[in-house]
Amino acid sequence: MPVRALLAALGLLLLIFFVRPVPVAQPVEELRLAMDTVVKVQLYVDEETAAPLMEAAFAEIDRIDSLMSSYSDRSEVSFINRTAASDGANCSSDMVQVLARSLHFAQLSEGAFDIALGALTHLWDVGEAVAPPTPAQIDSALTLSGCTLVRLSGNQLRFKRAGVQLDLGAVAKGFAVDRAVALLQTGAKAGLVEAGGDILYWGEKPDGRPWRFAVHHPRDRDMVIAVEDVDLPAIATSGDYERFFEHGGERFHHLLDAATGYPARRAASATVWTKNAMEADIIATAVFVLGPSRGIDWVESLPQTEALVFYEEEGQLLHRATAGVADKLEFLHKSELVF
Ligand code: ADP
Ligand code: MG
Repeated sequence: MPVRALLAALGLLLLIFFVRPVPVAQPVEELRLAMDTVVKVQLYVDEETAAPLMEAAFAEIDRIDSLMSSYSDRSEVSFINRTAASDGANCSSDMVQVLARSLHFAQLSEGAFDIALGALTHLWDVGEAVAPPTPAQIDSALTLSGCTLVRLSGNQLRFKRAGVQLDLGAVAKGFAVDRAVALLQTGAKAGLVEAGGDILYWGEKPDGRPWRFAVHHPRDRDMVIAVEDVDLPAIATSGDYERFFEHGGERFHHLLDAATGYPARRAASATVWTKNAMEADIIATAVFVLGPSRGIDWVESLPQTEALVFYEEEGQLLHRATAGVADKLEFLHKSELVF
């Protein structure tokens, strides 16, 4: 074949190669029930590489759950709750990490986020209850609540009063996501872990498409809020619409304001973007309790953190966001969502 024809053929081949659209890369995906919710793992690797990574990630999530779940008597947190007032409790290194970060943010949020609310959260028992507790019961639980009653020195945790109880429900899922991702990063260049709305992704999708996420509309299940180009890999949402009961026409949900002992009233949902899932989880709960005004001002003071808060005023749903996301929101019907 003459050289020129060969080159022409080669050129055509190259052209075909370049013009052909890059196929959309599909991750290997698994959903399992863990931590009292649905956990999703997506990995951009082949099936064979994915299988052992999936097992390792879900095993790690179960391990964290077995340390931090209030539902099991055998968890580390239950052991701490039984012993920290009398003897002080020696904590595992995972527990110390979670406690130290949680106490830091309790202080920073002026008690809006508080892991020492177990006496109150158990009293409300929002998952099972049909009516709110009495004001007297709430007052008495309040005397046993608050991070000022907890002291961590080294790996020793002490409660200053008998009856204080930890509840890690607002931080354990985020921590478990971080731990799972740390493990998965050793075997997959890109992927995502989500546990009940707490998300952390890493790497770049093989087809170069950006990571995009949508936020639930807190009052209309058919609507979502798409958010463009937030260059932060962790996202968490706290909302009043997932776990609540109604009594006397009022909604009582699971996010409590330690200042009053009642469900926090200022927000309908709070979404936070930051560097890791544990802090996203913590800050989302804190911002929910602080509400749109104090919550957004507070997040503006935190490095590499953005937030979006929905709230109701005179029957209208309004929102407020930090400057980094405010102009990136798009309200869409679910059917319009393209990833
Ligand atoms: P979800 O578990 O629905 O994703 P969160 O991360 O906000 O939502 O955690 C809510 C859980 O945290 C509650 O079920 C309760 O166990 C606990 N909690 C409630 N109020 C607070 C608070 N003010 N600070 C810290 N934890 C809280
Ligand atoms: Mg949280």
